[in-house]
Amino acid sequence: MGRLVMKFGGTSVANIDRIRNVARHVKREVDAGHDVAVVVSAMAGKTNELVDWCRDASPMHDAREYDAVVASGEQVTSGLLAIVLQGMGIQARSWQGWQIPIKTSDAHASARILEIDGSEIVHRFKDRKEVAVIAGFQGINPQTNRITTLGRGGSDTSAVAIAAALRADRCDIYTDVDGVYTTDPRVVPKARRLDKIAFEDMLELASLGAKVLQVRSVELGMVHNMPVFVRSSFDKPEDIDPHGTPPGTLICSEEEIMESHVVTGIAFTKDEAQISLRQIEDKPGVAAAIFGPLADANINVDMIVQNVSEDGKTTDLTFTVPAADYNRARETITAAKGKIGYIRLDSATDVSKVSVIGSGMRSHAGVAAKAFKALSERNINIRAITTSEIKFSVLIDAAYTELAVRTLHTLYGLDQT
Ligand code: ADP
Ligand code: ASP
Ligand code: MG
Repeated sequence: MGRLVMKFGGTSVANIDRIRNVARHVKREVDAGHDVAVVVSAMAGKTNELVDWCRDASPMHDAREYDAVVASGEQVTSGLLAIVLQGMGIQARSWQGWQIPIKTSDAHASARILEIDGSEIVHRFKDRKEVAVIAGFQGINPQTNRITTLGRGGSDTSAVAIAAALRADRCDIYTDVDGVYTTDPRVVPKARRLDKIAFEDMLELASLGAKVLQVRSVELGMVHNMPVFVRSSFDKPEDIDPHGTPPGTLICSEEEIMESHVVTGIAFTKDEAQISLRQIEDKPGVAAAIFGPLADANINVDMIVQNVSEDGKTTDLTFTVPAADYNRARETITAAKGKIGYIRLDSATDVSKVSVIGSGMRSHAGVAAKAFKALSERNINIRAITTSEIKFSVLIDAAYTELAVRTLHTLYGLDQT
């Protein structure tokens, strides 16, 4: 007998039939003798609708009220799943973040989990064999007593944090694909499912665009050394042996991975925008004059490239910011134009960042160079590059995203054979 956290994403609870299907997955594990806590997302599309309603109500809405609104999607699915489970004769109770409580920071819309008191849930496991059905994505700030949410995709983080708090043996993330692939299988049909992936590689994949897991859920898994298993909710619940190993991907520590490849996977995102400042006078203090005001405005700068301008005397500086901050970044730079002293500002929002990830890169040289050659052979222009020990990213025209991802996927031998 063990203790399991089972998380189901939006598509897995998209309607009552799917919720019934989820309940059958839960029943299987309960029947196998496990203590079970289930974490649910809102029905597919619901959170988007709630976000749109807030924007419609007022573009400059209060972040605390935004959280009050968007947290409601998970409240509905947790109650519905508890009702269905009870109808199947399984003891079940729904829990909202504040009822547990899941204490978070007060950074509304992107709050961090600080502490979870799992004692009552564990007590009920022991006393009544009761399944806890927990609303994902939400918590409460203990100082203000207000509902908070954890950022889009945050139910993954709820699940891993709850698994750690309950000292679960494993956290299963049920979703609409049967594991983590070498790249998004919806974009590259030749993508290959990984049996295992190291926390570090998964962290990079997630933060560079693979939305299969929220970044913070991977961080928490790593910190608590909690095995996280990504699997499909669409496999027939009754066909699965609760003691066997179903198809899926285990996210675990590097030591547990026997087979190692130089490149693990490829991620991409269209969520960045490029700003280029042309003909800046080449003198000390210019970078501070540009990036200081952006930092003060809380705008994260990602890629930075500096090169000599066409005239050979001045400097051009290109950087990227999150697409959501693009307008603010432009305004911030324009306001600081006098101090920076550039001649022209060019910008582009139709760009995408393609990233190649692999902890094996630490011990291999020339991995990125191969990519630059392959992309140039396809006539894909690289606007900016960043590298780190275990990944590199290129910024390209958005129209070439799929071609670039497919090219690199083949180049590094990731295609399914
Ligand atoms: P959920 O609603 O269950 O949380 P998400 O839509 O957030 O599901 O995440 C699952 C999706 O992530 C998949 O449908 C897939 O398109 C996408 N995805 C992106 N990159 C990858 C990858 N490397 N492996 C698997 N899925 C990926
Ligand atoms: N429902 C939330 C969202 O769509 C949280 C989640 O699904 O993980 O972002
Ligand atoms: Mg998700």
